[in-house]
Amino acid sequence: MSSQSYFKSVMYALVTGGTRGIGRAITEALLKEGYNVAVLYHGSEDKAKELKEKGVLTVRCDVGDRNQVKKAKEEISNHFPRLDVLVNNAGIWYLMPFEQFDEEKYERMLRVNLNGTIYVTYEFLSLLKKSSAASIINIASNAGIGTAAEGTTFYAITKAGIIILTRRLAFELGKYGIRVNAVAPGWIETDMTLGNKSDEEKEKLRELFRNKTVLHTTGKPEDIANIVVFLASEKARYITGQVIVADGGRIDNL
Ligand code: NDP
Repeated sequence: MSSQSYFKSVMYALVTGGTRGIGRAITEALLKEGYNVAVLYHGSEDKAKELKEKGVLTVRCDVGDRNQVKKAKEEISNHFPRLDVLVNNAGIWYLMPFEQFDEEKYERMLRVNLNGTIYVTYEFLSLLKKSSAASIINIASNAGIGTAAEGTTFYAITKAGIIILTRRLAFELGKYGIRVNAVAPGWIETDMTLGNKSDEEKEKLRELFRNKTVLHTTGKPEDIANIVVFLASEKARYITGQVIVADGGRIDNL
């Protein structure tokens, strides 16, 4: 059965941070599946313009600001009668060993990664309830399940929060038929991991992370987007409250 027949004839999806990196790959994959897609973006005006030309509804919104999220919901409600898929992907990362604790950076990560996921889910819940088969997919991280990586303690806390939120929401929203799952990516090649690096530095990082996996490879945004498309589809209709780890088989976890 195609995605279109699982949902009503027209499908609606929202991707936060949908203009760049993993979020962009998710947006493109959902467009390919035939969804009407809206994205929330923060700073990437040019990329938002590109997507707008492809028919994507683009709304500027800091997901860590509750009022902005409320306004974004109002705007999207003017165009979308319901939401079938919500992907909470927007996130930021600061390298910060525990002994270099910087409260401002920690609070910013917590606000965008965890509070942002809560605000967006809370505000858009009424639209999700209007779908016949809604699902929420949260982008966590393998850091959130305890994969060792230097300097990621505080980031990992925000992602562990997303994982427990996923499990509790699956419990609370099951009565509406809403499925809630998470994807926990390992090292994926995006601006977050490779931005502002020279070609030589990029290759060194790729090699470092290839060597941490049993498959001796690194991840691409499309690897995560494919999982999101699956989790949103009828093929995953019996799956809720789960975390799919996609990390190439980290040797420190196996
Ligand atoms: P990027 O840095 O490439 O992209 C981050 C995205 O988040 C951008 O689209 C950005 O929007 C958006 N964003 C950031 N802050 C806000 C905000 N306050 N409000 C709205 N949108 C915001 O990161 P990735 O694509 O690599 O990461 C995507 C998700 O995957 C994140 O949650 C990250 O933690 C997670 N992840 C990434 C891994 C990796 O190795 N890359 C590994 C594990 C998890 P804009 O450009 O408009 O500012």
